[in-house]
Order: sequence, then structure tokens, then C-alpha cells
Amino acid sequence: MVEIEEQNTEPEIGKDELTRLKDRVNRLHQELEDLDYDHVKTCEAFRAAVALLVSLCREGHHQDSVAAMDQLVHSSRAWPLIPADVQQSVDNLKQALLREPTAPSGQPGQKTDASAASHVALALMQGLRLGEADFDAELDRIIGEITKAMENQQVRPAMAMVVDLMDRYRHRINRGRRRAEKALREILIEVLQTEDQLARAFHSANVSLVESSKRYEKDITSSMTELAKDINVATDLGDLKTTALEHIRTLRDVVKARREADQQHISQTEQELTVIRQTLDKTRSRMAEVEEIRRRLREEAHTDPMTGIWNKRAMTKRVNEALNDQASWPLCLIVFDIDYFKRVNDNYGHQAGDRALKAITVAAGSVLRQYDVLFRYAGDEFVILLPKTDLKDGMKVAERVRIAAEKIKFTYKGQEGPKISITLGISQAVEGDTQETLFDRADQALLKAKKEGRNRVVAAPA
Ligand code: GH3
Ligand code: MG
Repeated sequence: MVEIEEQNTEPEIGKDELTRLKDRVNRLHQELEDLDYDHVKTCEAFRAAVALLVSLCREGHHQDSVAAMDQLVHSSRAWPLIPADVQQSVDNLKQALLREPTAPSGQPGQKTDASAASHVALALMQGLRLGEADFDAELDRIIGEITKAMENQQVRPAMAMVVDLMDRYRHRINRGRRRAEKALREILIEVLQTEDQLARAFHSANVSLVESSKRYEKDITSSMTELAKDINVATDLGDLKTTALEHIRTLRDVVKARREADQQHISQTEQELTVIRQTLDKTRSRMAEVEEIRRRLREEAHTDPMTGIWNKRAMTKRVNEALNDQASWPLCLIVFDIDYFKRVNDNYGHQAGDRALKAITVAAGSVLRQYDVLFRYAGDEFVILLPKTDLKDGMKVAERVRIAAEKIKFTYKGQEGPKISITLGISQAVEGDTQETLFDRADQALLKAKKEGRNRVVAAPA
């Protein structure tokens, strides 16, 4: 990620400053481009849900609707996502569904059932939560309705709700970026205008300087020539004295006029410079606003909205940094996964599942050391980076996290809730490791621990 350097020095006006500003605008722009990638990644779960829904409800529909569904899946998979195409597919599908002669919902042959409905709902929930209270509440409501509709075999209304949801989501995730882009465009225009103003001010300053010194030279020369002529024709000393005094007076007037012209020129230039300085000040403070937007977008891109901890993207970056930093070695990585978590969702509902995920995040965080970092990798899978830790100490940390999860007491409707445990795999970094190889070894150890009975820690062989 490109860091934006702070402006500590007093503002000076000139081409350098403009070049620096333009450079910062360009770098910010580049960063916004990078952030696009995160947004598209977040959409993946959503696309999976759309694809799944379509596969569930194709049967019984008219071939036009089926073609429109396929088109929707296709356009929601495009990379980069072209919002206008998605919008078009959504509209086409709505039209095709409306044109169908009979309502297909509830027709025999549809394989929609409660479990399929809950898979779709989960895929949507995992991918679409934004951590913004109003949006997430609305999301929960719509997903509840979709699930209900699907459980009742009402595929068509469910589909309509999904496409509507997709539209809302697309609008919401694009909002921050659009705001930043707009501000950047405005700043760029301001910078270009300032550059233009500056160029014109310097040009007119040069022109009037050249003109006034030419005039000055001409006036002095002609005064001196006059003086020389008069001296030649003067007949006596008194005459000479008077003539000389007259010429000196003329010369003094010329010098005075020049001084006045210079002064006027200076104050005019100062006025122009004040305007330029003000424009630059304004541009600078607008730049700070954009940097704030960028900071927030970047944070969002690295945070898991549901638990508030770092996400997979942040993990990739931090683990790579740690591997490349000798001061972080020895280095361990833990991968852990909640045991039988599907059952929690099935028996207590998704919201209870969500609360369990958050509680495990808090419990794990509470037993970690200051420099350990916890990430949500995906679904019910988490990663912990342990810098300056060998395998022996890493095992101790992993065991502490396992016990902390086991100790959480869940209640459900006033009764004792599910007992939850986690299974952990740990690997220690070796020379030549990449983020992927280190993760894979821990993940293999986790799989082995699951097979050996869960609720335990297994270390990967070096
Ligand atoms: P195992 O012990 O083998 O890990 O069994 P499991 O049931 O936990 O299986 P697995 O890890 O493959 O399943 C993860 C489940 O986690 C799938 C999905 O139902 C649930 N899940 C994933 N993300 C979320 C989420 O954000 N919220 C909720 N409520 N459930 C989630
Ligand atoms: Mg699990």
C-alpha cells in the first residue's frame, strides 16, 4: 500500500508544490484502484449465492427466464464487474419472470428445501455484511424473508428479493469510492487551475518588468542626450547651471516614476500570489479530506465487518511482512476452526452462530500476547500470527486459546446454550517459507487434529 507523506514544511508556492500535489492525487487514485479489488472479493460470496439460487430454481421456469438467470450469473461473475451489465441482467430477468404465463412457485420438481435455503442465506450473510448498522439490519431482514420464501418453495419472490438485494449492495459498496473519486477529480481541477494562474501571473510579471525597464532606459537615455546637447550650446556658466539643474530634475522625475511603477507592480504581483496561496491552502485541506476517506476505505478493506478483527487480506500482508522481517523470527502461525459449527447454526439459528463467532474472537483475543495478531480467515476459520515465538511457546499459546474457547458459556433463550470447542493446527516458519507454505502446513496440522478427534492442538512437522 502506498504511504502518503505528510506535509510538514511551510507551503511555498511554485511548480514543485504543484507537482507534489499532482503526484499525491495520482497515488491516491492508484490506491483507490487497489481497493476495487477488495470490493470485488467481497462480492464473491454473493455471486455464489446468486449462482446457487439460480441452479435451484431453474426447473419449472420458462426458457426465457432460464436464459435471463444464466445471463445474471454470467454478468455477476464478470471481472471487473460492470455495474451497467448487472443492472441490465437484473432488469431482463424481472421482465422475463413477469412475462411467464403461470406462476412456477411450488411446482413439483423443484429441489428447494430448508437446508438449501439456509445455505443461500449463509452465503449472503458471510459476504454482504458491511458493519454499518442500518445496512446490516436491512440485510438480516431481507435474508430472513428470502429464507422463508425458499422454505415455502416460493422461488420466484425469493429470486426477486435476491436481485433487489444485489442492487442495494452494489450501490452501497460503490458509495465510498465514488465520493473519493469525485473529490479527487475536483482537486485535480483545482491544481490545474492554480498551475494556470501561476503561469499567467509569472508571464505578466515578466512582460511588465521588461516593458518598464525598456521605458526607463529610453527616458534616461533621452534625458542624457538632451543634457549633452544643451551643454554644447550653452554660452555661459549661469546658463549651463540652469540647464543642468533642469535636466537633473527631469532625471529625478524619471527615477521617481520608475519607483512608483515598480511599487504598483509589486503590489499587483502580491495580490495575485495571495489568491494562488489561498487556492493552494484550500486544495491542501481538501487533500486531507480525501486522505481521510482513503484511510477509512483501506481500514474497511482490511477488516472483517462482523467480528471487527483483521480479515484474510490483512493476514496475507502481515504474514508476508513478518516473514521478510528477521526481527520477527522465530515465527509461528496458528490456524483454527470451530468444531461442528454447522450444528450450531442448524440448532440455534444463524444469529446465534454469529454471536458465537464474535464470542470466540473476544475469547481468543483475551489470551493472546500484545504482539500476536488474530485474523478471521473465512467462515469459522481463524489465523493467529505469532512473531518472536518458537514452536514450544507457540503450542502454549495455542493451548491457551483452545481452553479460552472451551470456557465460553453460551446461553440460548435463558437456557444453557451450545458447548463449543475449537481445533488448532500450528506451524513454525522455516527458511524459504512463503505465506502460502506456512499456512498450508498449519492447515494440514488442523485437518489431522480434526481427524484425531477435534478440540486439540496439533503441530506441523518442520
Ligand atoms: P468441522 O468440525 O469439521 O469444522 O465441522 P463444521 O460443522 O464446523 O464444518 P465447517 O467448518 O466446514 O463449516 C463451517 C460452517 O460455518 C459453515 C457455515 O454454516 C458456518 N458459517 C460460516 N460463516 C458463518 C457466519 O458468518 N455466520 C454463521 N452463523 N455461520 C457461519
Ligand atoms: Mg468448522
